[in-house]
Amino acid sequence: MRFDLLTIFPEIFDSYLKESIIKRALDDGKIKIFVHDIRKFSKDRHHKVDASPYGGGPGMVMTPQPIFDCVKHVRKANKGPVIYMSPAGKILNQKKAENLGKKWNKKGMILLCGRYEGIDQRIIDLLVDEEISIGKYVLTGGELPAMVVLDAVCRHIPGVLGDDESAKEESFSASLKGKKEYPHYTRPEVFQKLKVPEILLSGHHAKIKKWREEHLR
Ligand code: SAH
Repeated sequence: MRFDLLTIFPEIFDSYLKESIIKRALDDGKIKIFVHDIRKFSKDRHHKVDASPYGGGPGMVMTPQPIFDCVKHVRKANKGPVIYMSPAGKILNQKKAENLGKKWNKKGMILLCGRYEGIDQRIIDLLVDEEISIGKYVLTGGELPAMVVLDAVCRHIPGVLGDDESAKEESFSASLKGKKEYPHYTRPEVFQKLKVPEILLSGHHAKIKKWREEHLR
């Protein structure tokens, strides 16, 4: 699956994409990620990407031209939806992440990150297919939200997680009927005087399964 990230701070993504499961998915070619610097598309002499809001008020607003041209450029290679990260959008949940992964696996997704007070409404009217929020709080930019969407969606692409089962039986997934996953334990057997539940050391698969079902949260 292809992800195109549109931002005025492209370097924000560097370290996160270089580690762990996302890195492996990139190396294996399961996902492709392209980060685009919106500023490079600005026709302004000083490559400006923001201006003060019409009607007055605090802060700056991202101007439409650089975003418009950047999306136009990205559109040539990515035919998926343009998703604007926005606190006013629909809140992301596990089901939504799964559906996005299934629906756009072939075409990809374009994730637009806002900054300042947000982007000019005409970009939303002209180009944005969907607005997604990652929660009821306001961040300084759409980069973290875009990474959250990318990460949550990636886990549903076949082959991204080592064991394909692990996405199915996870907190929030349908198979757990709204419950959260059971507690996990690993080495050592005793830590700070706390012992791992006996059942988990028994090797008795049926009993372990039952214990885990009983301990969904
Ligand atoms: N003035 C806006 C907030 C802008 S925050 C308002 O009051 O709604 C700047 C940028 O951060 C936004 O354009 C958006 O891309 C991103 N952002 C902030 N909070 C977010 C959230 N909860 N979910 C998704 N994107 C968010």
